[in-house]
Amino acid sequence: MRYQHILVLTGAGISAESGIPVFRSEDGLWENHRVEDVATPEGFERNPQLVHDFYNQMRQSVKSKQPNAAHLALTKLQREMEQRQGRVTIVTQNIDDLHEKAQSHDVIHMHGELNSILCSHCGKSYEWHEDCDGTTECKFCGHKTMRPDIVWFGEIPYHMDAIERAIMQCDLFIAIGTSGVVYPAAGFVSYCSRQGKPCLEFNLTPSANSGVFTHSYLGKAGTTIPAFVDYFLEHDALPDPSAL
Ligand code: NAD
Repeated sequence: MRYQHILVLTGAGISAESGIPVFRSEDGLWENHRVEDVATPEGFERNPQLVHDFYNQMRQSVKSKQPNAAHLALTKLQREMEQRQGRVTIVTQNIDDLHEKAQSHDVIHMHGELNSILCSHCGKSYEWHEDCDGTTECKFCGHKTMRPDIVWFGEIPYHMDAIERAIMQCDLFIAIGTSGVVYPAAGFVSYCSRQGKPCLEFNLTPSANSGVFTHSYLGKAGTTIPAFVDYFLEHDALPDPSAL
């Protein structure tokens, strides 16, 4: 096999066809809210109830969402690669659980998860599927200081050690449905490219850092990813972008 370890970075675009709206960076709004209000520690300090309501609503809404053909194709890629002694690591910026619902494993949630809450007092986090607010007690320390377990702007993403290892070890980098403006994720392609690794981008339109990628496959991820995976597994080679 030409490629042994594939690193896949996914963003909001892979879940768009499952009915989860992307983050609209052009106008700074996320589901009609200002990013400063719902995705920063300062916003939470100003109005914790608004932030709890925002993520409670999203947690409930994502419960009924199903993985689409792109998530399922990544699971197929992961299984087939493992049968050939290869490996696929999925690093997602998404806070939804659609990779898990698609039965992928080795999924690293660098920006946290909707189905987890974090105690601001003791720093512990745990799985949570219900609503959360200022009355929710931490199951470890008992303080009513729970917040969504989401990495907000200005905070340090999770699992950076594991991600750096995957960046070093991979021999193919694939970014799917990510705008290329949210760092550090937007910088992963530059590391891989500097090491001479092929870097592939899948998006509706070229992303902000499109020029760093070796190939851009434009179109809906639900169409391009299954086509890519089938070609890649059959030919052990990268398809020409015009072929998908
Ligand atoms: P983004 O919303 O900034 O960009 C989404 C990208 O996906 C865009 O470049 C768009 O062109 C592309 N896209 C849209 N539909 C697509 C499709 N069908 N196929 C292929 N590409 C498509 O997303 P981001 O770069 O991931 O950064 C936004 C931040 O907001 C992330 O940190 C993430 O945590 C958060 N977020 C998460 C979710 C989620 O969990 N599903 C949803 C919205 C925002």
